[in-house]
Amino acid sequence: MIQDHLKKVQSGKLKLDEYLDEILDKCKSINDEYHYFNTICEQEAKQQAKEIHKKTKKGKLAGLIISVKDNLCVKDVESTAGSRILKGYKPLFDATAIQRLRKEDAIIIGKTSCDAFGFGSFNTNVGLDFKIPKNPFDKERATGGSSGGAAGITQKADFPHIAIAESTGGSIENPASFCGVVGFCPTYGVVSRYGLISYANSLDKIGVMSKKVKDIVPVLESIAGFDEKDSTSLIEKLDLNPKNHKKLKIGLITEGMSEGVDKAIKDNINKIVKKLKSKGLEVEEVSLPFTFKYGISTYYIIATCEASTNLACLSGLRYGQESDPKGKSFAEYFSEVRSKHFNEESKRRIMLGTFARMAGYRDAYYIKATKVRTKIIEEYKNLFQSYDILICPTMPVVAPKFSEIKKMTPLQNYMMDILTVGPNLAGVPHASIPIGEKDGLPIGLMGIADHLQDGKLLQFLQIIEDLV
Ligand code: GLN
Repeated sequence: MIQDHLKKVQSGKLKLDEYLDEILDKCKSINDEYHYFNTICEQEAKQQAKEIHKKTKKGKLAGLIISVKDNLCVKDVESTAGSRILKGYKPLFDATAIQRLRKEDAIIIGKTSCDAFGFGSFNTNVGLDFKIPKNPFDKERATGGSSGGAAGITQKADFPHIAIAESTGGSIENPASFCGVVGFCPTYGVVSRYGLISYANSLDKIGVMSKKVKDIVPVLESIAGFDEKDSTSLIEKLDLNPKNHKKLKIGLITEGMSEGVDKAIKDNINKIVKKLKSKGLEVEEVSLPFTFKYGISTYYIIATCEASTNLACLSGLRYGQESDPKGKSFAEYFSEVRSKHFNEESKRRIMLGTFARMAGYRDAYYIKATKVRTKIIEEYKNLFQSYDILICPTMPVVAPKFSEIKKMTPLQNYMMDILTVGPNLAGVPHASIPIGEKDGLPIGLMGIADHLQDGKLLQFLQIIEDLV
């Protein structure tokens, strides 16, 4: 879908400024109804379009419309990670991914809604004063989270558009599944995290959402690659267009087809499995017992521990909202700022993470969790010796109603991530792709590949897209 558009821009057939006006109007009217953007950066986008128009030699993404999750820094554009504590923060620099997109002349149109700092599965944990985005298929339902705005606008946009999002434990796959779009999360370390407002450093990955599988490739190619500003950035180069040299062997994860998963979702997965088999692909049942037993607890210990240290800088001194310090001790001052501007879920995670890192508990929780994580990685590695791709439903349910989410306890909320935390802990590439629907609500299949086999995963997603 984006390829034709890119050609038109390159050939000069498209008047970029008029085109952009039209897109911005569309985004504004979608936003009034669905709240997918925290900020639409109209002036900056127009300025960019002007500069691109003037260039004789344009970048390979020239004129491509891009939305960016609000936890990525975009120069001179308010970047809040969806929290009131960062309201008004305009970074002086671009995140590496953004810098690379600009180099290819893509146009950034705005910052998309997310759960504050990425803390959530439904995009209902937005910061104080922020609006909750609505599912594009039913406004009574959630978009999924934490990258709900990214998924929503990707579904609603009737123009070539790509969303840049981020996943720590499922934030790309989950909303992609609930909103019926493709959500691709690359191998950990493939895309630089420099300029990402960190949730959990050892888990955060920047990825891409689109309507079509093919559209992911040029964007991912542009943002991937070593960056000396991120110490966990990988040197390895990705081959995103591997030759279709062999038949993929697929493992269907049985835990993903268990009782707790909606029957309509399982039926849709079974249908796809049949189709894959009829195409001559081998599909066998596989199991990840250790991952499913310990995944959620391991993930939430590691994620909250890292989050609680990351948020420590938001104390109202160098970063974050300020208050009047007169007559207050440092502890009183920063407690005041943080109490006032963090939402409930951010406070819950700071407390959980701080507790788990306390002297005396550190070995029992954080260190233990990192050891369990190694075991989880081994469990995946083992399966990848025999299988190219693992599959399961992305989410156990279709997009829930806001009224249903309100009734969930925090633990029930966390359990929603049961299918997505595994590949995120293992750092392996994974993606959600729409395969069907239940009562008009999209159903997503998740495909998972071994480290750095992102190209193979894309090859598999293309097969699924063609089958559907
Ligand atoms: N739902 C998960 C969480 O709340 C994942 C969020 C994410 O990937 N940013 O931590």
